[in-house]
Amino acid sequence: TLGTSLMFSCWWLFFPWYTCFSRLLSTAALAPQICVVGSGPAGFYTAQHLLKHHRLARVDIYEKLPVPFGLVRFGVAPDHPEVKNVINTFTQTAHSDRCAYYGNVTIGKDVMVKELQRAYHAVVLSYGAEDNRILGIPGENLSGVYSARAFVGWYNGLPENRDLKPDLSSETAVVLGQGNVALDVARVLLSPLDILRKTDITEGSLAAIACSKVKRVWLVGRRGPLQVAFTIKELREMINLPGTRPLLDPADFTGLGDVIKDIPRPRKRLTELMIKSAREKPGEKEAALWASATKEWGLKFQRSPLEVLPATDGKQARGIRMAVTRLEGSGESARAVPTGEVEELECGLILSSIGYRSLPLDSSIPFDPKLGIIPNSLGRVQGAPGLYCSGWVKRGPTGVIITTMNDSFDTAQSVLEDLQTGVLNLSNSKEGFKSVRSILHSRGVHPVTFSDWEKIDAAEVARGKLAGKPREKIVDPQEMLQLISH
Ligand SMILES: Cc1cc2nc3c(=O)[nH]c(=O)nc-3n(C[C@H](O)[C@H](O)[C@H](O)COP(=O)(O)OP(=O)(O)OC[C@H]3O[C@@H](n4cnc5c(N)ncnc54)[C@H](O)[C@@H]3O)c2cc1C
Repeated sequence: TLGTSLMFSCWWLFFPWYTCFSRLLSTAALAPQICVVGSGPAGFYTAQHLLKHHRLARVDIYEKLPVPFGLVRFGVAPDHPEVKNVINTFTQTAHSDRCAYYGNVTIGKDVMVKELQRAYHAVVLSYGAEDNRILGIPGENLSGVYSARAFVGWYNGLPENRDLKPDLSSETAVVLGQGNVALDVARVLLSPLDILRKTDITEGSLAAIACSKVKRVWLVGRRGPLQVAFTIKELREMINLPGTRPLLDPADFTGLGDVIKDIPRPRKRLTELMIKSAREKPGEKEAALWASATKEWGLKFQRSPLEVLPATDGKQARGIRMAVTRLEGSGESARAVPTGEVEELECGLILSSIGYRSLPLDSSIPFDPKLGIIPNSLGRVQGAPGLYCSGWVKRGPTGVIITTMNDSFDTAQSVLEDLQTGVLNLSNSKEGFKSVRSILHSRGVHPVTFSDWEKIDAAEVARGKLAGKPREKIVDPQEMLQLISH
């Protein structure tokens, strides 16, 4: 019959190879082109989740610096190398044949978000937070006053801060803020050189710290011990820092033993450790260590900065005037209110560690200036279909890498759902990097690929080896670009 002869003449249709071939044909058309702006944890975790859960998706990661990994490279303290192990996972993601990295490309300047939207089915903004909130008090421009962000950037080799040259000639430093970044900064200022020497702290900052006169660091907070933002691991590390002793006023902790009975366990344990260190007699070993210490650090509570005081030359900071506060309310929501009493503290180095802040990328993208975030629901940018956000720019500059990982997975999930439900229209074919490449070319921008980064990485590791360090970071972007141009 006709049916049978047709079936025989089309026998090849039933062969597995044909099925594979036809699948390949349709997949080429349906591969979603996605790009991520920023190569910090948010960018890499978003890419990882998309690649893992969509077998066809292609993800391009754009980064303004030549080198990847955001605050993992430029924020995390040099003496916390274990935290930086996440780089191994990010490297695996970058090695996927469906992922590409383009460093040295600033979105909002070299390429606009609108141009990315024309080239990709979805654009995920994961560009983190930059600007450190300024103190807004008189004298903050005096020499000796820095943002913790700039100071951290300096010792971690962030190109824009490499020439900071902080003045470390004073014996007393004040860090305004009581979070983990404040503790990082205090630890780097007070750590024995032998410890720092084995880390990836930059050569230049190590040399400056070797000549530092700082031997006392006060961490100042507007509120009380129950409102500190650091966590127990970092506090314990500070208490056990060789060559230093804690200066904790037992009076600050009076009566807290009763209050903490009913508070959540992490804060309870943290407060117990502060109370123990402040009020209990140290053990024999601890007492001996503290007695021989040449440096010290302490917590000052319920002090709000009013003014940086100038030295007689009118240029250098010589101290800080602070309002003594009392607390209104209790727990996390307690507010610091000035009592009218004022106190001055002599110090020649002041570091403000009162938070990071995201900035809008360009005026076409919704931005909430008050919260410093891109308004979104589950990572979908409000009123901008096809645009997503993850990480610090999505939820504000708080939380550790794990927090950032979870929220990036959530955002990636929203993208996957929108692909599945057809909100993202794959029938519009998108060229992805092909069209961005011609834009970059016409603007004279030369992107750095992941294999370029691996050359920089190898050079840094080789330089570090000579000095007994995990790496010696290259701090000049021009030097990086020269290195990969050969
Ligand atoms: C000083 C400090 C120490 C920290 N220490 C720890 C720690 O020990 N452990 C821990 O778990 N967490 C730590 N954190 C928190 C952790 O770093 C953050 O949770 C995480 O880095 C946030 O990720 P992100 O990708 O949103 O931002 P980022 O890490 O800031 O990444 C954003 C990336 O976007 C790039 N970018 C910015 N603008 C553009 C643009 N216009 N175009 C292209 N690219 C752009 C940036 O260069 C950067 O690479 C620390 C944070 C700080 C500030």
